[in-house]
Amino acid sequence: MPDTGELERWLSARGEPHLAGASLDRAVAILVSGRALARSTWVDEADVSEADFERLLEEKAPDIDFMTSRVVNFRTLDPSSRSAKLERCRQCRSLPAQLPCPHCDGTGELTTEDGKVACAACFGGTAPPCSACGGTRRSVHVKVVFGEDTPKPFAHIFLPELPFGLRGPLTRFFLARGSVPDILTIDLADEFQAADAYRGRRSRSEVRGHRADAALALARTYVERLSKLPSFTAVRAAAFAWPFVVVSELGPARATRAAIRDEIGALWVLP
Ligand SMILES: [Zn+2]
Ligand SMILES: [Zn+2]
Repeated sequence: MPDTGELERWLSARGEPHLAGASLDRAVAILVSGRALARSTWVDEADVSEADFERLLEEKAPDIDFMTSRVVNFRTLDPSSRSAKLERCRQCRSLPAQLPCPHCDGTGELTTEDGKVACAACFGGTAPPCSACGGTRRSVHVKVVFGEDTPKPFAHIFLPELPFGLRGPLTRFFLARGSVPDILTIDLADEFQAADAYRGRRSRSEVRGHRADAALALARTYVERLSKLPSFTAVRAAAFAWPFVVVSELGPARATRAAIRDEIGALWVLP
């Protein structure tokens, strides 16, 4: 928190009217940031070998991982295929067990400018085994669920009501912050309004003695809406209350400024 001594020094150094002639209004910005996980899945039919089927039976969708910043792909067996049976492989059922390699016509060699070289696509002229059954001639016809988890970071700044000209500079100040001090963390579920209500005034939201106005309710609504988005499997959000003081100077200029500390404690007076 900027203290009044600091503000006074700043104002007098600028030759501005003395602090005694300024009104101070304590306010707070609510910052919300977090990460959502968007999970998309699609189903495809496939013929898989017995070994691959055994592996698929064990595969599970990964747990929610909020720490990762990369896309995670996974596959699982569709529940309807858990009891699928081994059968004659559909992919090679109508083919002879051993086919001549289509690349070298079964010779095992390719003719190039440098002469004859061994064909890399086969083993001595025999085509590679069926990719579905691996040459066992038996496979399992299954539905496979393919999935993709994509992390979606989000952040939003909610400001209380402010005198004209402060919204832009304060927004830019918060956008430029590399980190938010942990001490500013708040729980959006907490009840912040009680302190004000008993004085009989209009109930307005306050956080730690600073007015938040509608910013608190807007931040709550924002997180609630994100959590309900059907495209998001999971949402984890953190909220912070960043205090500042609106300084309204008296005198002919009647300038209005915001005094705020950054994440390393330096005092800024905006704009
Ligand atoms: Zn070949
Ligand atoms: Zn096969």
